[in-house]
Amino acid sequence: MSEALLEVEDLKKHFPIRGGFIRRNVNHVRAVDGVSFDIPQGQTLGLVGESGCGKTTVGRTLLRLTDPTAGSIRFRGQEIATLSRRRMRELRPKMQIVFQDPMSSLNPRMTIKQILTEPLRLNGVGRDAAHKRIVELLETVGMTAEQANRFPHEFSGGQRQRIGVARALALNPDFIVLDEPTSALDVSVQAQVLNLLSRLQKELDLTYLFISHDLSVIRHLCDEVAVMYLGRIVEKGPVEKVFTSPQHPYTQALLSAVPIPDPETRAKRIILTGDVPSPVNPPKACRFHPRCPRAQAICREIDPPLEAKEAGHLAACHFPGPQEKWPITQTREVKVSEG
Ligand code: SF4
Repeated sequence: MSEALLEVEDLKKHFPIRGGFIRRNVNHVRAVDGVSFDIPQGQTLGLVGESGCGKTTVGRTLLRLTDPTAGSIRFRGQEIATLSRRRMRELRPKMQIVFQDPMSSLNPRMTIKQILTEPLRLNGVGRDAAHKRIVELLETVGMTAEQANRFPHEFSGGQRQRIGVARALALNPDFIVLDEPTSALDVSVQAQVLNLLSRLQKELDLTYLFISHDLSVIRHLCDEVAVMYLGRIVEKGPVEKVFTSPQHPYTQALLSAVPIPDPETRAKRIILTGDVPSPVNPPKACRFHPRCPRAQAICREIDPPLEAKEAGHLAACHFPGPQEKWPITQTREVKVSEG
């Protein structure tokens, strides 16, 4: 395996909740609460989980769009979690982001040429070189130089996302956070954008963090996947291992909801009951225990560490393993339906 481009250790991001007359901190939202992973150069790590699990906060914190509360982020071996804003600005061209909604991330009053020129000129690229680079960028993402004088609303959703990708590529980054980049697009357009991202990764040796709630997309694009629940990673490993042999009950529940194209196959669907607990006061010990079909007394007392169940495949569970191996706890109300 190639060397890690990004190494994240025990990353935390807690947002203060202010209250009272003098607006003092009364509590914290533990959006990210001790997350560790590496991404090797040229590979893609998928970050998956329900809405509100902290995956977008991880992406934004890695780029220092929001400052971490604690933990370490090393980019090419350099610690950036504590880097000054000025030093971080110097590094920013190498670390970019593509947002979920291309319409709201592109200024509607600027032409595509102005949108792409902005990061180039801010980083000291001259007018002629910027013009040449814009033509090159548009061609790279499958568009033409003639389209540069149009405004974002004149393009389809897929084309706008291509423009978002072109803007992220403008300064030759090494690492890109892709934050649900295809979830606002139609399925056929999604495939085109995913193929584009895949091609660019190979051609430009890019490293991606791919944030998504769509497991099929993660399986298509990623080398490794990390499953997040309530601010923590509960399972992590090579995509094929996690998809074919999930160890954590939460991963198994997520995977059971993925439609199987074969009409002969009737998969058992695990429907988790209860809402996701609040990240302000997460459950003690295993955070998944109030919703877990496999929970036992120990789960409410001891926090299971994220540890290897087999080479490179980690899970944070006292009773990891295939779903069939563990009977559903009688006291737990879980609906298992034929899907
Ligand atoms: Fe479920 Fe217990 Fe594993 Fe947590 S540690 S996921 S409650 S079995």
